[in-house]
Amino acid sequence: MSETATRYGAIYWMESCGDDLTPRAPLAGDATVDVAILGGGFSGLWTAYFLLKANPDLKVAVFERHICGHGASGRNGGWCSPRFPVLIDELEKQFGADVARKTIRAQHAIVEDIGRICDEERIDAHYTHGGLLAIARTERQLASLQATYAAYDRLGLAEDSAMLGAGEAQARVRVSRVLGGMTTASGASVHPARLVRGLARAVEARGGRIYEGTEVTAVRPGQPAMLETRGGMVTARRAVVLAGEAYLSGLPGWHRQLLPISSMIVATAPLDAATWDQIGWAGHESLSSQAYTKDYLTRTRDGRILFGSRGAPYLAGSRMPEAALADPALYQPIIATLRDWFPVLRDVPIAHAWGGYLGVPRDGLPSVHFDRARGLANVFGYTGRGVATSALAGRTLAGLIGETPAYACDLPMVRAPGRLWEIEPLRWVGVRYIQNAFARIDAADFRNGGAPVDAKFAKALAPI
Ligand SMILES: Cc1cc2nc3c(=O)[nH]c(=O)nc-3n(C[C@H](O)[C@H](O)[C@H](O)COP(=O)(O)OP(=O)(O)OC[C@H]3O[C@@H](n4cnc5c(N)ncnc54)[C@H](O)[C@@H]3O)c2cc1C
Repeated sequence: MSETATRYGAIYWMESCGDDLTPRAPLAGDATVDVAILGGGFSGLWTAYFLLKANPDLKVAVFERHICGHGASGRNGGWCSPRFPVLIDELEKQFGADVARKTIRAQHAIVEDIGRICDEERIDAHYTHGGLLAIARTERQLASLQATYAAYDRLGLAEDSAMLGAGEAQARVRVSRVLGGMTTASGASVHPARLVRGLARAVEARGGRIYEGTEVTAVRPGQPAMLETRGGMVTARRAVVLAGEAYLSGLPGWHRQLLPISSMIVATAPLDAATWDQIGWAGHESLSSQAYTKDYLTRTRDGRILFGSRGAPYLAGSRMPEAALADPALYQPIIATLRDWFPVLRDVPIAHAWGGYLGVPRDGLPSVHFDRARGLANVFGYTGRGVATSALAGRTLAGLIGETPAYACDLPMVRAPGRLWEIEPLRWVGVRYIQNAFARIDAADFRNGGAPVDAKFAKALAPI
């Protein structure tokens, strides 16, 4: 392994996606289409893909400020996860057992569909059917895993899951300080940038138009609805679709709908065979702990370990500067945690470190909605679990707009956008408090199994 300096702000996935990333031509002049989609990430592109698949004659166009995959879709952890954004016990509590069951089954099915579509459309997204492996590194984390398993079992959904003892978990992957684990056979990992870029090509192959370097500056609902862009005015005979997720907080009228929260990832250089022998992880599972600060790990095709965690402190006014994600100081705790998990990586170079923004709805539930009278649709709010859920949501929205056979329309996420986030500075105070409290809860738990006095309060305050 050669010594390399860490490149902060460099996105491993985009660099290794195989495209030269030259932007497609921007919109130059006014345009009229049937469906105009803001956002060239998974949500916008899945919506376009499923619309065109069912309605080949529809005129569908995607308007992307940068290039497809610039947002969270090209930078995430690569978990194509069977876990829905709302936790299973929360789904059960809010909507009842039947709806919880239906939602989880739909999520499992879409994970399989994504693999199938990659095959059909010849998208080499490194789709790897490794399932999930959640490990517990403290007693609190173990209790949390046991409660998760119990919830799946209670709903009759535990057939592909199993609890593991410490030794069994270690036999799969040698992480320091493991008390137990839970496996779930369903679930895959993907190379997200290859998926999102391949999906863009699949949309074009079906007749969709994609304009890159085209910022939408305003949305005008109505009959017809319109998008104002820097390249011209777009008239949408049937619908405009807002698929900008976290970035919608910068669009006039939408700044309190979703909270932009960052998540950050560090990636090792490729590991040699001897190091992999010591680590194990032959099953390529999507690996995580039960920490509140969310550790998520992926093994890449070229032999790197990606270690993701919660990101930078929230900035007042929902600002999302790219520069805030390139600060080396923010990544040092993540690198230290990675080396604590795998002491064998002590001297292994960290090649890439990057972050991205994801959108958190105030009530934690995504929203898939089409207001036919106003010609306005939206698809967003996955709180960091959007790789698979965006396909489920996009497919559902395509059914609503395209008037094709309804798909998953009875899930609770099919609803108008939820309540708004608090105004500033209340929002900043609350969010920063929760970010800080979660870090303290993890630290106390890891130190001696304790909890700060305000732990219950902080958990009750958090939307997820
Ligand atoms: C670091 C990180 C790790 C993550 N890990 C995982 C994971 O492992 N598994 C998982 O399931 N989820 C994960 N997520 C979440 C997941 O990536 C997102 O939920 C998903 O990609 C959202 O897709 P999207 O298309 O809705 O949004 P985005 O991918 O953010 O796309 C929105 C697009 O809209 C464009 N846009 C916004 N505003 C405008 C405008 N005004 N005009 C024109 N274009 C505009 C943006 O440029 C952007 O390209 C992670 C997120 C991050 C940031």
